[in-house]
Amino acid sequence: MTSARTRERMIARLLEQGICDQEVLDVMLRIPRHLFVDEALAHRAYEDTALPIGYQQTLSQPYVVARMTELILGARRIERVLEVGTGSGYQSAVLAALAEHVYTLERIRPLHERTRKRLQQLKVYNVFPRYSDGTVGWPEKGPYDAILVTAAAEQVPHELLAQLAEGGVLVIPVGGQEAQSLRRIRRQQDQYHEEVLEPVRFVPLLKGRLR
Ligand code: SAH
Repeated sequence: MTSARTRERMIARLLEQGICDQEVLDVMLRIPRHLFVDEALAHRAYEDTALPIGYQQTLSQPYVVARMTELILGARRIERVLEVGTGSGYQSAVLAALAEHVYTLERIRPLHERTRKRLQQLKVYNVFPRYSDGTVGWPEKGPYDAILVTAAAEQVPHELLAQLAEGGVLVIPVGGQEAQSLRRIRRQQDQYHEEVLEPVRFVPLLKGRLR
């Protein structure tokens, strides 16, 4: 159930769903998604569904991970990427295969700790996890070529916009629990160009840390 065949079927489905970035597909074919969820859920890791990861949080369905990753890739090479919402670490591991350095922030301490260990065990050494409130970003490590937020914001945090490099992109779900849409915002000098993309459903982006 967690074999290469199952993973191949997930990739075939992503293609049908319209994911066409070959790099993203190759990376998701390689990364063992079942190692990012509880053992009891491992057999469902390659289904087209979001999965619970504890603390009322979820790992997004494969399509959403693929789509958000494809949206930040674009033409330029991504050196530094910031992820807000580490969760299981699956999205971080996908990003780690495509960028030089991945900085990732999590506000729930036990999730941060578990994922930090998990990424070490999997020998993913270019992800730098931090226990902090991601709504204010991580200014010391920026500016970032891309910022990916994996929880829904009521409003786009201005700190994150300020930490984008020239030409950088922010991908973020925006909206309350009833209706959210994915946005891509590109920085050009001090101008920000926003595109409103498809409807999505994410857990909320909350302020502050939780022990
Ligand atoms: N990218 C994750 C998805 C996890 S769900 C994965 O691949 O598994 C979203 C995560 O965002 C949750 O773990 C939640 O605790 C976290 N989160 C919500 N608000 C946050 C904030 N302000 N700062 C950091 N993390 C936050």
